[in-house]
Amino acid sequence: MSNAFYTVPTAVNEPIKSYAPGSPERTALLSVYKEMYAQKPIDVPMYIGDEEVRTAQKIEMSPPHDHKHVIGHFNRGNAGHVEKAIESALAAKDAWSSLPWEQRAAIFLKAADLLAGPFRERMNAATMLAQSKNVFQAEIDAACEMIDFFRFNVQYMTQVYKEQPESLPGVWNRLEYRPLEGFVFAVTPFNFTSIAANLCAAPAMMGNVIVWKPADSQVYSAQVIMDLFKAAGLPDGVINMVTVDGPEAGEVIFKHKLFSALHFTGSTGVFRQLWKTIGNNLDMYRSYPRIVGETGGKDFIIAHKSANAAEVATALSRGSFEFQGQKCSAASRGYVPSNIWAEVKSILVEQVSSFKMGSPEDNTNFINAVIDERAFDKISSYITYCKDHKDAEIIVGGEFDKSKGYFISPTVVVTTDPKFRTMSEEIFGPVLTIYVYEADAFEATLDLLDETSEYALTGSILSQDRYAIELATKKLENAAGNFYINDKCTGAVVGQQPFGGARGSGTNDKAGAAMNLLRWVQARTIKETFVPATDYHYPFLQE
Ligand code: NAD
Repeated sequence: MSNAFYTVPTAVNEPIKSYAPGSPERTALLSVYKEMYAQKPIDVPMYIGDEEVRTAQKIEMSPPHDHKHVIGHFNRGNAGHVEKAIESALAAKDAWSSLPWEQRAAIFLKAADLLAGPFRERMNAATMLAQSKNVFQAEIDAACEMIDFFRFNVQYMTQVYKEQPESLPGVWNRLEYRPLEGFVFAVTPFNFTSIAANLCAAPAMMGNVIVWKPADSQVYSAQVIMDLFKAAGLPDGVINMVTVDGPEAGEVIFKHKLFSALHFTGSTGVFRQLWKTIGNNLDMYRSYPRIVGETGGKDFIIAHKSANAAEVATALSRGSFEFQGQKCSAASRGYVPSNIWAEVKSILVEQVSSFKMGSPEDNTNFINAVIDERAFDKISSYITYCKDHKDAEIIVGGEFDKSKGYFISPTVVVTTDPKFRTMSEEIFGPVLTIYVYEADAFEATLDLLDETSEYALTGSILSQDRYAIELATKKLENAAGNFYINDKCTGAVVGQQPFGGARGSGTNDKAGAAMNLLRWVQARTIKETFVPATDYHYPFLQE
């Protein structure tokens, strides 16, 4: 019997393990990594209702840093599997949405504890193998951020449910937070295992049922997410994972009467295309679908003439190149004033040249491979473009080689054209372009920065001058959804820096925040009158 107002455990960010030499976590993780690397190739099914579905079309999975080595296959599904996943989701809906909220909360709190404990190494190792993250990048994503998403969202869920209207004497007004009527379509990117899990878990926590399509290059770690949800006791059918080609899945989903929401993270072009399809099909739906999308970025770091050169260089080197620049928040354009450029350049080149690149199995590698051949070809074509243009000069990096893995050296380009292609287009790889501006032209450079790209995800100002910080904060008000002062523009932590951007970067519904959870509910207002009127006459009607 649900007869109490339960308080949930206070969410605290999961501590990041250090993986320092000799630490037990380092030994344990590397041993699981080696085991998973060497084991017989696994066969990842689709998860539809209580079934594990396999097909004749097997798609190979390989580590990006070692692409000839096969770690497994997944099963390519078709439109029929998507239809089945929708049916399974809808069949699970009644029981799931009427489960008391604390029971749903308990499942995700349990998932968090399982991941903090027995699932940690497997989730991290799968992310190292599938997405070529080093131990630290895997830990902050696949373990810590995913745990934080589960724990903080449980807390935010109770915050949402607690929000109630006023009631005057004789009346009791209530707000009920119903899940959406229908199912949610979660479409997730390759780059964060935690985002893949959260795009399913956040709406599910609020009582929704999900059809989930992970990115092909993330399926290996996606399977561990499904195993984690099952181990935590998530009932079958609440989250159904299909490995169907995006457009083929969309063809079925976006024509379904009970399609109620899209929870998307990925590129801007794909998101716009999906939104247009949904708009064109609007007459088919029972409700107006919710559309939540976090998309591309062209994230910036601007230094003021008062900034410390070593701080600027380090913000650029860490902010641009960790996880090979494949964080949506990664800095990819820098604006450095002429008075400190010589010093920034020397420190930056020294730092970037010292990065070691290779397999994540070797902990001394700061840089690993980019996700796949398509990304490799796209990123390297940008580098070639820079080499071919006199407006650009590569000051470090510029090499690439895909013979063993998709390796691209972290590359810094300096351009004399502030609107150069690599200053405005999202590359999504280890390429940083810098424009050196006249030290006294700070304000004009802020305007230039604001106009240069269609995106508005993350950005930083580095300055020792408080007036300059204030000016940048004001002038760049709409240039970033996550704005940093004297820091790099990456590394948002759930519960501390709610994440998301506007303009071309998305709907800015801030993942891991109460405002995101509000998108997964349909509020119903209930007014109850205790002593109803028995006569229609109002006093004003009297003569
Ligand atoms: P992507 O757009 O190529 O793919 C994202 C997902 O969409 C994948 O699951 C893909 O299979 C699917 N998809 C592609 N075309 C589809 C279609 N026509 N119909 C249905 N589904 C389709 O992105 P990606 O390469 O996986 O991820 C990188 C992108 O994600 C970058 O642009 C990055 O900036 C962005 N990103 C943004 C955030 C954020 O919070 N703003 C976070 C992570 C990644």
